Amino acid sequence: MAKNYYDILGVSKTASDDEIKKAYRSLAKKYHPDLNQNDPTAAEKLKEVNEAYEVLSDKTKRSNYDNYGDPNGAGASFGGGGFSGGNPFGDFGGFEDIISNMFGGSFGGRGYSRRNMAQDGADIAVNMNLTFVEAAYGAKKNINLYRNETCEACHGTGAKAGSGVVTCSKCNGTGTITSVQNTMLGRMRTQSVCPDCGGTGKIIKEKCPECSGVGVKRVNRNIEVNIPGGVDNDQVLILRGQGEAGSNGGEAGDMQIVIKVAPHKTLKRQGNNVYAEVPITFTEAILGTKIQVGGINETLTVTVPEFTQTGDKITVKGKGVKIYNRNGYGDLIVTVVVELPKNLDRAQKLLIEKLNDDVKLSQYTKKKQYQDKI
Ligand SMILES: [Zn+2]
Ligand SMILES: [Zn+2]
Repeated sequence: MAKNYYDILGVSKTASDDEIKKAYRSLAKKYHPDLNQNDPTAAEKLKEVNEAYEVLSDKTKRSNYDNYGDPNGAGASFGGGGFSGGNPFGDFGGFEDIISNMFGGSFGGRGYSRRNMAQDGADIAVNMNLTFVEAAYGAKKNINLYRNETCEACHGTGAKAGSGVVTCSKCNGTGTITSVQNTMLGRMRTQSVCPDCGGTGKIIKEKCPECSGVGVKRVNRNIEVNIPGGVDNDQVLILRGQGEAGSNGGEAGDMQIVIKVAPHKTLKRQGNNVYAEVPITFTEAILGTKIQVGGINETLTVTVPEFTQTGDKITVKGKGVKIYNRNGYGDLIVTVVVELPKNLDRAQKLLIEKLNDDVKLSQYTKKKQYQDKI
């Protein structure tokens, strides 16, 4: 899959060498492994940033990449997908390729023949269910799956150890058969995958018994992943190269971990902050009190000042969710709801009546404001 190196570095296509260097330095710092010990994706991002910089800082590679979408030049770009035999223009990269193909121009750059059947491995998507606490603070989780891995016995060649491989005689090891046709548009070169070797350019004398000559094997793996604190619902973590193995020198796919977070009993999360709605009695609201508030994984004691009203918010610093990829935590925000008793006995009611006679309108801000308006 073609990567956008400009996007990776966050610079424009017209960026100067200096701008590219600057962007690279700041990203290399951002994804430095020492600063991202809990983030399994940081090392991979750093790799990507390095790769992008390697291409964009080199004049020749950058110009090749700009013109052909591949730092190695024209023709090299259709290594990944392979091309279909029927259509001569199958998966060719672009206009340049078609022209050079039609009029017999050379493909230039690195020869594609030996790599054109390289198949990149597919990505694997995995759903990861987390508790609210695990998402907030991070967790070590196990992923058990079946995936294709490069056969260890033959190192992916598909040949039995010691048996060796020979160059395909039909295509002389190029993996493709070229035929020339005269058409309305002129002489046209058509290339198709060599039927004898399937495009690899090699014939295996004796198949590897471990993988039956395929070069990859289906294996059951238990993979331990460090889920960083602060991940949220539907977030996708990508583990580069942990997907299905590629074949014929193709790259392994990625593992995409789709995060699903279970709801909390009493808290709602928004970004790094968590929100609790906590009822207190009307007498507590008037007199002030200390209340117990359920935090993410602990019970907290929170002071409610006297004369607290419904809707007043109390912020408990640092008791929210871990900030993803950074140090620090969000806050817990308590919204107070004042509750009145549903019934009172006679003596209690007398006390309230006494209070009612005693307290003046000027002691109630909102009621007084309203009365003054009408
Ligand atoms: Zn094998
Ligand atoms: Zn062949």
